[in-house]
Amino acid sequence: MSGGFREAVVDLDAVSANVARLREIVGTPHVLAVVKANAYGHGAVECARAALAGGADWLGVADIPEGLQLREAGIDAPVLAWLHDPDEDFAAAVAAGIDVGISSAAQLEAAAAAGTVETPAFVQLKLETGLSRNGVPASEWEAVVARAHELEQSGTLVVRGLFSHLSNASPDDDRAAIAVFRRGVDQAEAAGLRPSLRHIAASAAALTLPESRFDLVRFGLAIYGLSPFGPESAAELGLRPAMTLRGRVAAVRRVAAGTGVSYDYTYRTATETTLVLVPLGYAEGIPRHASGRGPVSIHGRRYRVSGRVAMDQFVVDVGDAEVAVGDEVVLFGDPATGVPTADDWAEAADTINWEIVTRVGGRVRRSYRGGTA
Ligand SMILES: *Cc1c(COP(=O)(O)O)cnc(C)c1O
Repeated sequence: MSGGFREAVVDLDAVSANVARLREIVGTPHVLAVVKANAYGHGAVECARAALAGGADWLGVADIPEGLQLREAGIDAPVLAWLHDPDEDFAAAVAAGIDVGISSAAQLEAAAAAGTVETPAFVQLKLETGLSRNGVPASEWEAVVARAHELEQSGTLVVRGLFSHLSNASPDDDRAAIAVFRRGVDQAEAAGLRPSLRHIAASAAALTLPESRFDLVRFGLAIYGLSPFGPESAAELGLRPAMTLRGRVAAVRRVAAGTGVSYDYTYRTATETTLVLVPLGYAEGIPRHASGRGPVSIHGRRYRVSGRVAMDQFVVDVGDAEVAVGDEVVLFGDPATGVPTADDWAEAADTINWEIVTRVGGRVRRSYRGGTA
């Protein structure tokens, strides 16, 4: 099978350049590149290396198995993991030198139990500041930081960082959360902790709220060249989308006016026309919600999905354009090349660009350009 049949081409030089650009914008001592969920669908190991090459000095993942995957690939940069199985045994993380994000008193004890004086557990304590996800509740924070200090004295645990996460509900909501975080930092210091990393900002706040930057910012979406504020903002910030999703026309059919297209015939041809078959479907993460709307580019011209997106494929009515079996169809990529964006697909499917790239999977083959991977 030819590589281009269903292919996500990831430009690793774009990832490196985006990280370098973001570092320059925020000017923080540290930048953490978030490579969870297979680097938002871009390939975790390859993107981790590219982000480090661009100047990130930390990597972030949701769970420990994702961090271990980076270690198994030989990546020895600092890694933080923050979402754990309730029964997680932190021994593997400690042995691999992965920092454990702590969201409860029980997790703190489990991490300390996994550490030894020779190989202490490095932890970062997460304070819940409004998002209502994980993190130690403010009401338990003083007890947790006091206990963390005690465990530090015993030598099996080191509190390297304090962190939280923002809602992006509004600048005022984020400022309120930052105020809660600052109080938490003060309480931790009063308890005797001396963490070197304080962090709360992901892409959106890091780019818009300078007071959210502290010692480190956690960039996910933006390192892949997408902006929380749309494609114009990405271009203005000097970011370049790293992923191009494309396929090859699998069939071409000339049909009469009034021909029904795909399941349920939600689309019927208005005139005699040419239909092309694109071999990507919802199994590949193409949202069925984008049926009749998702944009594609063929020979530099823009068309829309005609009718339903099916599991393996969708159809595009290209009118009288000359399209042949094997021709390239681009679903999204860098708008500077004239193709649709992940943001266009997000709009078509009533979702966000984060989801569009992250859900790319199924039988899509990833190939890489640039980088040293
Ligand atoms: C996913 C995640 C990020 C990255 O968010 P972006 O909006 O993609 O930059 C940062 N921090 C935490 C805790 C996350 O879960």
